Amino acid sequence: MSDLLGRVIAARLRDVPDFPQPGILFKDISPLLADADALRAVVRALAEHGRALGGVDLVAGVEARGFFFAAAVGYELGCGVVAVRKAGKLPPPTVHAEYQLEYGAAAMEVPVGVLDDHRVLLVDDVLATGGTVSAAADLLEKAGAEVAGIGVVVELAFLGGRARLAPRPFEALLTVGEPPTGA
Ligand code: AMP
Repeated sequence: MSDLLGRVIAARLRDVPDFPQPGILFKDISPLLADADALRAVVRALAEHGRALGGVDLVAGVEARGFFFAAAVGYELGCGVVAVRKAGKLPPPTVHAEYQLEYGAAAMEVPVGVLDDHRVLLVDDVLATGGTVSAAADLLEKAGAEVAGIGVVVELAFLGGRARLAPRPFEALLTVGEPPTGA
């Protein structure tokens, strides 16, 4: 991904120490979302990843910050959008998965009946340990979709999350830090 876009994103992240728990350096994307030009560049770059995958026909976003990007990228690509939601928010029937993220455990669900035989681009804001996005990808596949690829705005490479997504094509618009040795 371009160094310029990486610098644009990096300049619009706010590092919040010890949020939501002690020891977590939270990457707040609010300044990025509030900057029209930067947001447009991010959406276009994620859409380009979808095009480079040979085309997708649905974009999935992880609740809640992934929704911003999924809806805009879906619009840019002329695709539909699907929400990977926190458990209990979607009406039944759903497919359900439990997973671990950087700061805790959670459960997520996707709707049954809209994913069968679709090629999906999965997007989220931050890849940390990769628990969330790998669980979301597994869930989309369990619901009948093919996950053509995954795109995130920021990857915290030192947490090694990328390794959990293989072999699915993965793109980060900004990579922070270095992967752990052996990852
Ligand atoms: P993980 O499952 O550990 O990759 O965590 C990724 C999910 O949790 C994403 O949906 C992010 O929105 C959120 N997240 C985890 N760690 C951070 C962080 N350090 N800064 C911002 N968001 C984070």
